[in-house]
Amino acid sequence: MVSRIIPVDEFDLVIFGATGDLAHRKILPGLYRRYVAGQVPPSAQIIGAARTKQDDAAFRLEAKAAITEFAGKGDDLSQLDDFLNHLRYVAIDARGTDGWDGLKALIRPGVVHAFYFSVAPALFGDIAQRLADHGIADANSRIVVEKPFGRDLATARALNATLAQHFAENQIYRIDHYLGKETVQNLMAVRFANMLFEPLWNAQYVDHVQITVAETVGVGGRGEYYDHSGAIRDMVQNHMMQLLCLIAMEPPYHFDPDAVRDEKLKVIRALEPLLPGDIVRGQYRDGVDGSDYLKDVDNPDSRTESYVALKVRIANWRWSGTPFYLRTGKKLRARTSEIVVTFKAPPHSIFDESDGPRSNQLVIKLQPNEGMDLTVMIKEPGPGGMRLVQVPLDMSFADALGANGTDMPDAYERLIMDVIRGNQTLFMRGDEVEAAWAWTDPIIGDWEGGTKRPEPYDAGSSGPEEALRLLHRDNRRWREIRS
Ligand code: NAP
Repeated sequence: MVSRIIPVDEFDLVIFGATGDLAHRKILPGLYRRYVAGQVPPSAQIIGAARTKQDDAAFRLEAKAAITEFAGKGDDLSQLDDFLNHLRYVAIDARGTDGWDGLKALIRPGVVHAFYFSVAPALFGDIAQRLADHGIADANSRIVVEKPFGRDLATARALNATLAQHFAENQIYRIDHYLGKETVQNLMAVRFANMLFEPLWNAQYVDHVQITVAETVGVGGRGEYYDHSGAIRDMVQNHMMQLLCLIAMEPPYHFDPDAVRDEKLKVIRALEPLLPGDIVRGQYRDGVDGSDYLKDVDNPDSRTESYVALKVRIANWRWSGTPFYLRTGKKLRARTSEIVVTFKAPPHSIFDESDGPRSNQLVIKLQPNEGMDLTVMIKEPGPGGMRLVQVPLDMSFADALGANGTDMPDAYERLIMDVIRGNQTLFMRGDEVEAAWAWTDPIIGDWEGGTKRPEPYDAGSSGPEEALRLLHRDNRRWREIRS
């Protein structure tokens, strides 16, 4: 199946932080792929901005190296030199005065203007202020801001207020790249474009939901940042809560940015406060590769969690009685992100107990391979009597949509094109972000005010024992972490 390319309007996209890791690994390669796909209009400009002093030619060489390094295996690099002609560069210090007039001179009237803040959040306010002061951004401009969006409710509110001084909410695109994943959007398609699941999508038929984001990497070179953040801030408050919202929300009246975000917000507001026994924190230790959280962050007293598991309850009619278990961690057995919806077992089995039906599961896989599995019970083939076996109805998007999935846009590609189109559906609204912090703040605050240490877990394992017990005590078990 060949996907339709819907061209976007002519644009000038300014990337603040164009010399940084995110620009190199995701933004520039993503734009190149859209260029190859024919989606980037002929006179589009991509303007890099950062403090490094260099000219267009040097930035193009830097971009070429980055795209070559980070392009996908199947990517066609034959159009790279043509693409590079769209790139310009301006040396700008977000906190200084130089360079802004040069940037203004490059921006063309009458095209879409987007400003991607791929810099530390501490600079968001400075850039917003200078864009306004120099008359570079106007009421039609869009800004894209990266995570982390605050580190608690107070800082998120302050950041929203700073941005609101210069930009209206409909100009602000807060990125959560999980929302740009094909599967995440497919989750909405599967729920709201089919009759099959929605009647069963409630506490009467769903036993529980598991959301897992497991990484094999440790904190790597981000030790200092991570130790001030931890798994709840880094993963739960944003990515995992977004996934939870998409699973739990009511059907919006229309696939429209505010209709979708209104429904997500209602879910966040319906989250019950966590009970102390509903949360497990862990820290990895003693990896065969020598990895140890305390050494990796160079802080022997650190109480920051590299793993967290939560039992979350949603206090509304649809979900009352169905727990959502969330877990995320570093240095785990495999790299995987998935959502598992476990349905209740049939109320009565007509088959022998040993062969009796087991619960159906809908497994929504976000990475490494995007796709969905639905497990169903069937008769075991052959003449051995009426024996049942559980099998997956597998729908891998790469197979279904062709070309080994290489034509499936990466989340960043899709999201950047949505910015140019002016579609905010897959971006977080300010009140959503604040509501998410309002729920996580007490969890973080209680912990930071205490003295307990995270449970140690072996690097390369499935996480702390205590996290297993979180489900065992409910007579449930985690799905095995495997890629
Ligand atoms: P990074 O590698 O440290 O890059 C930072 C960029 O900001 C560089 O281009 C740097 O270039 C520029 N910069 C720093 N100070 C500046 C200033 N005063 N004025 C103008 N430019 C300045 O960071 P990153 O990993 O790309 O992350 C960028 C943002 O994305 C951060 O908010 C981060 O949290 C977020 N993010 C990153 C990732 C990722 O995978 N990397 C994932 C999710 C979110 P110069 O030194 O040349 O000025």
